[in-house]
Amino acid sequence: MQVHMDTIAVLGAGSGGAMTANLLRRKLDTDEADIVVVDRSTEHFYQPSFYLIPFGYLEPDQSRHVDDLLKPGVEFVHDAVTGVDPGEKVVSLEDSADLEYDYLVVATGHRLDPTATPGLLEAWQETDEVYPFYHYEAALEMGEALRDFEEGTFLVTQPDTPIKCPGAPLKMAMLAEDYFRRQGVREDVEVIMTRNAEHHFGVQPYRDKLYEIWNARDIEFRENFSVEEVDPDAGVVRSADGEEISYDLYAPVTPQFGQEPITENSPLTTGDDEHGGEYVTIDKHTCQHTEYDDVFALGDCENAPHSKTAAAARKQSHTVSENLLAEMDGRPLPKEYDGYAACPLLTEKGKAIVAEFDYEDAISAPVESKMNWIMDVNVLPSVYWDAWMKGYDPLP
Ligand SMILES: Cc1cc2nc3c(=O)[nH]c(=O)nc-3n(C[C@H](O)[C@H](O)[C@H](O)COP(=O)(O)OP(=O)(O)OC[C@H]3O[C@@H](n4cnc5c(N)ncnc54)[C@H](O)[C@@H]3O)c2cc1C
Repeated sequence: MQVHMDTIAVLGAGSGGAMTANLLRRKLDTDEADIVVVDRSTEHFYQPSFYLIPFGYLEPDQSRHVDDLLKPGVEFVHDAVTGVDPGEKVVSLEDSADLEYDYLVVATGHRLDPTATPGLLEAWQETDEVYPFYHYEAALEMGEALRDFEEGTFLVTQPDTPIKCPGAPLKMAMLAEDYFRRQGVREDVEVIMTRNAEHHFGVQPYRDKLYEIWNARDIEFRENFSVEEVDPDAGVVRSADGEEISYDLYAPVTPQFGQEPITENSPLTTGDDEHGGEYVTIDKHTCQHTEYDDVFALGDCENAPHSKTAAAARKQSHTVSENLLAEMDGRPLPKEYDGYAACPLLTEKGKAIVAEFDYEDAISAPVESKMNWIMDVNVLPSVYWDAWMKGYDPLP
């Protein structure tokens, strides 16, 4: 007699998906469940490197093949998800047959859409001044432009959509200001960053510490600036209020959304009114879907109000794996995610503040130190690849 073995499908082999699949494989023997990971890409990038590569602070080679990341016993399907029917428990794929599942983990991240800001894509493709560094290719290309930059305005903007790593544009502004100083051109350069909000960083006490640093180093913050369009011919960014900022070198953060196969072709996001249906609706503590008990989600694709970081996905992967096992056994869900996120704020070459916070409070002190830089730039990449992504975590 054939015994039914459960299939756990994990959508996405990025930070959240790879960690969760490997954690589950460590907890479940191969005769207890099949674990199938689907990703349309075979490359997994260490995205926190994207603001370090342009300055030469990390080598450009920052990706691993998904096959090398997933543990033996985890099946990888290289294909694009085109939709999910949680009623029938089926994932539809672009090239392969439908994937039937018993349990589903959604970790499809953010979709970057440079076309959502008129003029942005043209400015990136057709000029040498614009580098949307959230894209790996732009981060690679930006190094030469930074080295050649001698005078004018260096501009960083943020879109109105939620973004992953809300600290990344601030790091880009601070590292660039420091870089221009080291290059001996700082006096001829203006550094400006915009955001469509009152403040440049949401969480205290890090915000006040950052204002202190920005004031001392003359980095300008323009608040309540909603980017309306980029005009590559004029070298200008215009806001919804008609304000204009001219740039000579420009690092925009690309507008970000949910993945269309999930937002348009599944009912998994429909309960998310606050975000216009862009995000998979989960309980912010258990990471279980609000409607479908056999569906969990983590990372950038869901609506829990945490900062969208790999640090958050790392913590959530433990919650998802333990709660999914409990769901399989019919037990109450044992683990609650507390909203933990961490953001190493690199303030200059050799110095950083590590902002750590959860749903309730700040956790770490707003202290700038060399040790924080060493931890983030020299230690964390190996921990990311060789421990967290493999499902080993000394501090789960
Ligand atoms: C410039 C930058 C700097 C950052 N800095 C930091 C930092 O310092 N610290 C930090 O903790 N985090 C940082 N982050 C954020 C961090 O990288 C993300 O929060 C994290 O990767 C989220 O993990 P995820 O699994 O949700 O999404 P991702 O890691 O983006 O993975 C999503 C995966 O889903 C796949 N996918 C999407 N749609 C489909 C589909 N239809 N079919 C098949 N596969 C699909 C994608 O190919 C991808 O592999 C940074 C990000 C950027 C861009």
